[in-house]
Amino acid sequence: MNVDVLVAGAGPAGLAAAIELRKLGVADVLVVDREHQAGGIPRHCAHTGFGIRDLHRLMTGPAYAQHYRGAASAAGVTLRTGTTLTGWPATGWPATDASATPERQSGTITATLTSPAGVQIVHAGAVLLATGCRERPRSARLVPGSRPAGVMTTGELQQRVYLHGQRLAGRAVIVGAEHVSFSAMLTLLHAGAEVTALVTDQPRHQSFAAFRLAARLRWRVPVWTGTAVAGIAGRDEVSAVLLRDDRDGSVRSVPCELVVFTGDWIPDHELARLAGAALDPGTLGPAVDTALSTSVPGMFAAGNLVHAAETADVAALSGRHAAAHIAAYLAARQPAAPGRQAAPGRQAAMAGQAGGRRVPVPVMVAGPLRWISPNGISPVSPEPPGGRFVLRSGAFAGRARLQVRQDGRLLTSAPARLVPGRSIRLDGRWARHVDPAGGPVQVGVL
Ligand SMILES: Cc1cc2nc3c(=O)[nH]c(=O)nc-3n(C[C@H](O)[C@H](O)[C@H](O)COP(=O)(O)OP(=O)(O)OC[C@H]3O[C@@H](n4cnc5c(N)ncnc54)[C@H](O)[C@@H]3O)c2cc1C
Repeated sequence: MNVDVLVAGAGPAGLAAAIELRKLGVADVLVVDREHQAGGIPRHCAHTGFGIRDLHRLMTGPAYAQHYRGAASAAGVTLRTGTTLTGWPATGWPATDASATPERQSGTITATLTSPAGVQIVHAGAVLLATGCRERPRSARLVPGSRPAGVMTTGELQQRVYLHGQRLAGRAVIVGAEHVSFSAMLTLLHAGAEVTALVTDQPRHQSFAAFRLAARLRWRVPVWTGTAVAGIAGRDEVSAVLLRDDRDGSVRSVPCELVVFTGDWIPDHELARLAGAALDPGTLGPAVDTALSTSVPGMFAAGNLVHAAETADVAALSGRHAAAHIAAYLAARQPAAPGRQAAPGRQAAMAGQAGGRRVPVPVMVAGPLRWISPNGISPVSPEPPGGRFVLRSGAFAGRARLQVRQDGRLLTSAPARLVPGRSIRLDGRWARHVDPAGGPVQVGVL
């Protein structure tokens, strides 16, 4: 099977990209998702807060997901659910052999799709990875103790409650105190659980003061700061969580039946890694330049895979941004047939791509910053998605100043409030002044 573009992941980023590709005149756009319904995480976020930047209205998660499903099918996108992109067969490109190039092979990327119907090979002119991110589960956080039932992430919690209608009785301890942790609290209360506390090893919670206040006053749920999970007890089911006070090292046992690990996001980067794409050491997702192009020609990445985790509208806008560059990439490689004009969308897209592929200038961060996305400046198109870079800090700083420099030259300086786990947005106009032949761009904090 041949397609122009194969999109892995039917969340906001993948669907927004696919719709935009169709608007730009790309004929065959195939989106696959391993879940049985398209829409990604918003399908099971039964609260409002979706769609502000991309659709300019406020919606619940399920309504937002439904909007994108409808818009994708109206745009003529081919959508296949229950279908996982499982890898890149050795006969195709990209291969694990670094010498394989699109010129040496057919110029298409060959992918393997796996579904209940079997295995299928697809040849795509370009691929967009939009596989999102997930919360680091208990096993990856190396929390010692037994392995009883009742331990989950927010994603699992939401699926159980909002997709499968489960009730959850008992006392719950939530690990984390960022936005998603307060969302987990509401889901647990909705499901019938009693929330004992949110615990964080940070000195302060990392969400809005209003969320913290509402938790304390309305639901009487405290946030225990400076507190780490030292273990989980229980045979078949959780009976207690062991909490260590980081200030004096004391450990106490808090009885509970449910433990929910929240935040601490990790991108679903397996497909990028298998393809041999360079990973960014900060985001742990594929390294991408401002065109959302990975180090593998013809392979792009968008959404929470490249910035874990932003809101859905930011993910959708990054999908749209990637679509424009994918259309340009395809148009530059496949000129219109003699006597035929390229579609207007393609013509516009081609303009930016005429220079072909050149090496991006890397963008690096210094502590306490943990990562920036995108993490390279495309010499063809230095504009980041939505005109902004997103960053994360590993430490609190109330009145910080970000400085961006290349080879000692100051490109911009901007005030910022640093909170671990919270998004920092940096206006991206400085990227136009990056010297494509210069050294890496350095982003630091004063
Ligand atoms: C508890 C919670 C509350 C939130 N609240 C809000 C909110 O109020 N407002 C807001 O704007 N955002 C909110 N968000 C964030 C929002 O849901 C995400 O930012 C958004 O869904 C990211 O979109 P995405 O397309 O990058 O990834 P996802 O939505 O995660 O979609 C990725 C898709 O890729 C699929 N996939 C992965 N690997 C493969 C593969 N190999 N083959 C095929 N398919 C694959 C997955 O099944 C999934 O459907 C919330 C998130 C959570 C967890």
